[in-house]
Amino acid sequence: MTNLPISLRNNLSNHFVLNSITLASTSISRDNTIKYGIRLHDGLVVEAVLIPQGKRVTACVSSQVGCSLDCTFCATAKLKRIRNLSAQEIYDQVFHLRQESFNKYNAPLTNIVFMGMGEPLMNFKNIVNGIEMITSSQGLGMSAQRITVSTSGISKLIRNLADLKLGVRLAVSLHSARTEVRESLMPFSKKFNLVELQNSLMYWYHKTKSKITFEYIIFENINDTNEDIKYLVDFCKKVPSKVNFIEYNPVEGDNFKQATPEVTQLYIRKLKLNNIHSTIRKSRGKDIDAACGQLANKLV
Ligand code: SAH
Repeated sequence: MTNLPISLRNNLSNHFVLNSITLASTSISRDNTIKYGIRLHDGLVVEAVLIPQGKRVTACVSSQVGCSLDCTFCATAKLKRIRNLSAQEIYDQVFHLRQESFNKYNAPLTNIVFMGMGEPLMNFKNIVNGIEMITSSQGLGMSAQRITVSTSGISKLIRNLADLKLGVRLAVSLHSARTEVRESLMPFSKKFNLVELQNSLMYWYHKTKSKITFEYIIFENINDTNEDIKYLVDFCKKVPSKVNFIEYNPVEGDNFKQATPEVTQLYIRKLKLNNIHSTIRKSRGKDIDAACGQLANKLV
């Protein structure tokens, strides 16, 4: 900006940085889902996904570069955590995806899910500040009710989030309500047992009156027995919740196999008998590796 005096320009560059993100790559799926490679100011890349569904457009955003957790079936877990995203980078992702939604679908962005790379609660302060900017009238003015934070279940931080009463929704990647099975699928969960998790979720409901969504993949020979169903039903009975069955998206080098549709139906029936609502989340963007658990940054 040569119209500004040199002394002012020097002063600005000595005291401020512009660390905005750039959209480094775009892949468009057959189902119109779009995956973006997002380059951060230090050259690292995260991924974010735009998912159109009828009148709704959802942005799936990342909270960390890589992930510190070790879910055995997830591609992002193989990357390890490199760093947290700042609140501004989180905001910037939503800002760009919102613009893209207008450009590509001619429709406004309606929902945001923190289901991209990383564990949002392990980057607590920044996701909270990011959400505050996204919902602020000086920011994007989006409704907090349209924002879902997904966690693999870190009890203490679920309580902290509940205390803030941001108005966001909570999803928990449960995958099993049996300790030994969950610990084999998600080894870090040894540190956060299921009883503690259940207590923190009851606390969440008590504070927010917002039902929890459990994300659940049914794997063949891992969590596909009547016993597994019974444990899930018992878990759900104690916490106001619903279950979202997620299709397993194959990850290179993994041997997991999704259970048959009959097993899913059995789960759904048993839950229904106990008045617990469940849905099946259809996988989107699978052909471009943009589906749940497939974000692994083939760019870096
Ligand atoms: N760390 C947070 C946010 C990531 S959300 C969390 O765990 O909730 C990504 C979702 O995709 C989680 O529910 C995760 O368990 C699920 N997921 C991971 N790998 C997957 C795969 N291969 N197929 C389908 N879903 C997967």
